[in-house]
Amino acid sequence: MKLTNLRSFAATAVVAFGVTGPLQADMPLSYTNEIAPGVYSFGGGNGYHSMFLVTDEGVVAFETVNSTHSEKMIEAISGVTDQPIEFAMHSHNHWDHASGGGVFQAAGAETVAHTLAAQYLAAVPGQDTSVPDIVWDGNRHDIEIGGVTVQLHYLGLNHGLGMTVFVIPEKRVAYIADLVTPNRVGFNIMPDFNIGEWERTLGEILELDFDVAVCSHTELSAEEAPNGCTKTHVEEERQFIVDLRGAIFAEFQKGTPANEIPTRVALPQYAEWVGYDEWLPMNAWRVMLDIWMGPYPWVPEG
Ligand SMILES: [Zn+2]
Repeated sequence: MKLTNLRSFAATAVVAFGVTGPLQADMPLSYTNEIAPGVYSFGGGNGYHSMFLVTDEGVVAFETVNSTHSEKMIEAISGVTDQPIEFAMHSHNHWDHASGGGVFQAAGAETVAHTLAAQYLAAVPGQDTSVPDIVWDGNRHDIEIGGVTVQLHYLGLNHGLGMTVFVIPEKRVAYIADLVTPNRVGFNIMPDFNIGEWERTLGEILELDFDVAVCSHTELSAEEAPNGCTKTHVEEERQFIVDLRGAIFAEFQKGTPANEIPTRVALPQYAEWVGYDEWLPMNAWRVMLDIWMGPYPWVPEG
């Protein structure tokens, strides 16, 4: 498939499948919810959740997703403030999260990405992506707006490129893309995750300065989690990886043939999680092959 065709296929697939999970029937419509003073979660009704911060000197949006989602988010922002949108943050390089920046740029905002994500978006543009305006390097970058500090944390390799976790300590709030999805097993074959580095990163996220987070995907209803994710969900995600790996090792020790391990692995404590029947064997294939062949993706230090 030619790259241009692949791009239009990807755009169609996002619309058709909504991407996040096998159970999309009760997907809520767009919503805006104030989770801390001046901090709002925003759902596009498409399985993707964003966040925005309103200050006296402008607005910061987190996760543009795609143009339709961004247009709806700008409408939601204008519903709560007249302040201009100064910045739109990209969490990482994947097209299904990093598209739509052009809508914010047209609205006068500057888009922001870690250099590893920005390099990718420049080299491998998607149908709906744009080149970020502000590119930062290293492990930490802070943006101050209206007396509020927004921390940008790059925690190293874990998922995609340039993955940034955003923390607003004063509001006790964070934005976390893809690394934590409450009440769901790993997505599909856990694409572009380095499993071991993901586990390490989740431990580091637990040390960051927040109480609640907006997670880009969640299977919790608004009633179950009106303020989004918490550190309990970060810890549950980490424990899921540990338990899955443990179950695979247990099968190795029993002498189960490798080809049979992914369908034999059972983690009944997660049986209620979305994707358990469909995706757990795929998750197990991925983790087992990483143990067998070596972890992927891998990049040299420095
Ligand atoms: Zn991703």
